[in-house]
Amino acid sequence: MLKSMERPAGIMEKAVLAHLPTPLEPMTRLSDALDGPELWVKRDDCTGLGGGGNKTRKLERLIASALGAGADTVITGGGLQSNHARQTAAAAARVGLKCLLVLIDSVPGRSGAYYRNGNMLLNRIFGAEVRVVAAGTDIVQVMNGIADELSAAGGKPYIIPIGGSNADGARAYADAIDELRDQARGLGIGFDRIVVATGSAGTHAGLVAGSLAHGAGASIFGVSVARKTPDLHPRVLQLTGEVLLAMGSDRQVRPEDIMLDDGFIGDGYGRPTPEMVEAVQIVGRFEGLVLDPVYTGKAMAGLIHHVRSGAFGRDEKILFWHTGGGQGIFGYDETF
Ligand SMILES: *Cc1c(COP(=O)(O)O)cnc(C)c1O
Repeated sequence: MLKSMERPAGIMEKAVLAHLPTPLEPMTRLSDALDGPELWVKRDDCTGLGGGGNKTRKLERLIASALGAGADTVITGGGLQSNHARQTAAAAARVGLKCLLVLIDSVPGRSGAYYRNGNMLLNRIFGAEVRVVAAGTDIVQVMNGIADELSAAGGKPYIIPIGGSNADGARAYADAIDELRDQARGLGIGFDRIVVATGSAGTHAGLVAGSLAHGAGASIFGVSVARKTPDLHPRVLQLTGEVLLAMGSDRQVRPEDIMLDDGFIGDGYGRPTPEMVEAVQIVGRFEGLVLDPVYTGKAMAGLIHHVRSGAFGRDEKILFWHTGGGQGIFGYDETF
């Protein structure tokens, strides 16, 4: 797609990697089971590439930038069971770039499956080189060091930020709002609220930017999986502003546009909670959908809690944005 005004002619804005549009489906049995509002799901677990997930939308833009910069290798980082790292490995394989992953061993108390299975297994299958670093290591510094080494050896490395969450990557979720609006119109439905898991903030920021710029009508409710609100809120706010700027929109984001709930993190990133386990089981049993233990399971735990408490009204139409990650569940078999 050649549509960007900012890029030199001939450099594409997006590599085509994702199956789009992703399905928009009702969760009728879950709505009934919770005796709650009308619940729908946006199936970004079905973006197609390498098992799918939300990072594939971002990677369509980020991989195009890497190719545009003449890269031969992409470097990114995350947790050992990072879905972003796994989708980056798949995207690199697809376009013929080498992929180097810096993965941090930061979640305590995991079983052997966490180190071998799920996303770790897929990284191997996609041919990525994995460097595992100890908890507390500064991943960004390690990625920069590797990039310097590769450059010194005549290589062309390109660093993709953790979670793909710069303005370029996050902008993909502003486009996803357009996709949703068209689908919702086709079905004659309007959503009051969108619930999404938020980690590195890019997905949430892109969705807010898209709604502000193009009027989605729904409020975006982010459930944090790692950072407490005082830390996460300024990041989402800042990134939303950057995405609006990159889109050429003159809309301003206000602090109150960023809604966050940090009540479902439990003991920390990647650490199971009873509410997450219940959410994964309920959604599996009533909808045949796979959520993941790190992101969507905790976001759905938040949704279920607010439906039960009445904070989400029974007459609302609520969309759960499924951001993928089901492959990670195979690193957590003992939890279920
Ligand atoms: C990365 C990820 C998220 C969070 O997206 P961010 O843009 O990093 O906030 C949510 N769900 C899954 C499954 C993810 O892999």
